[in-house]
Amino acid sequence: MRLFLILLCFFMVLTGCDVEEAQTYAQKQREMPSDKDPKKSVQAEKANQPKQENPITPESNEQKKEPQPEEPLKKPEQVSASAREQEQIEVEKLKQQTLFYKGLSTQKRVALTFDDGPDRYYTLQILDILKKEKVPATFFVVGNLSKIYPDVLRRIDQEGHVIGNHSWNHPQFTKLSQSGINSQLSRTNAVIKEAIGKEPRLFRPPYGAMNTRVEKQIGSQGYKIIQWSVDTRDWSGRSSKQIVNTVINQVEPGGIILQHSAGGEKLRTTVEALPQIISYLKKNGYEFVTVDELLYVPAYFETSR
Ligand code: ZN
Repeated sequence: MRLFLILLCFFMVLTGCDVEEAQTYAQKQREMPSDKDPKKSVQAEKANQPKQENPITPESNEQKKEPQPEEPLKKPEQVSASAREQEQIEVEKLKQQTLFYKGLSTQKRVALTFDDGPDRYYTLQILDILKKEKVPATFFVVGNLSKIYPDVLRRIDQEGHVIGNHSWNHPQFTKLSQSGINSQLSRTNAVIKEAIGKEPRLFRPPYGAMNTRVEKQIGSQGYKIIQWSVDTRDWSGRSSKQIVNTVINQVEPGGIILQHSAGGEKLRTTVEALPQIISYLKKNGYEFVTVDELLYVPAYFETSR
């Protein structure tokens, strides 16, 4: 704005106007009433956020015209080498972790996750969409349904997705005894192993319920506990638009997105929203990976276990 004023004054002087007049004009411009009330303006900004990640404002145009101070010479290869080193340190930290909410913020990657399946209705529709879009995902399945639909587990596995353990019948682990927890984990892993020949190391706690006691118990057995950074609340009967907007507003590099692949007719909007979510993330340069890839942890236990 200051530069604009200076330029304006300069122009006015050249064309015979005095500075005072120029300032009055500029003042009037600032006081012009907006056509949007502040509330609407904020809403519009929010609605436009995803399309305008780096909006070019008049101010930023002006700044570009200003002479920039000379920057000290940098060696690009040194900068990227140190960034790489830093990233490697972060990766090593991830590998040591037991409890996760998201991956590295320096990598524009995202993991789609689907809980509570499998079934033969929504899970299959979700698999069809993922196949068409060539997008991998992670399915946290419950043991009691895995026993009924082993063929769906096999399809999930064969199409390049990863399967995680989501307990046998969806209890709150913080309310279970040590043996109750072990039984939930091992029974579920047994039916998954029977279906696909592999035992998941990724575990998602039902309801996200977790505490230090449970974390230590599960972590000591080699499991990785996977929470999420974006909760679409798709199970609650939200419209597909609301689900998509939740992703648009909350997703960040390294994000883990929570959705569901079974559990009632309200998931119709999960299926409706999925192609739009994928389209948005692709357009914004996100790479889709499975949770194990996102977090640099193994998806399954070694077969010798
Ligand atoms: Zn669940």
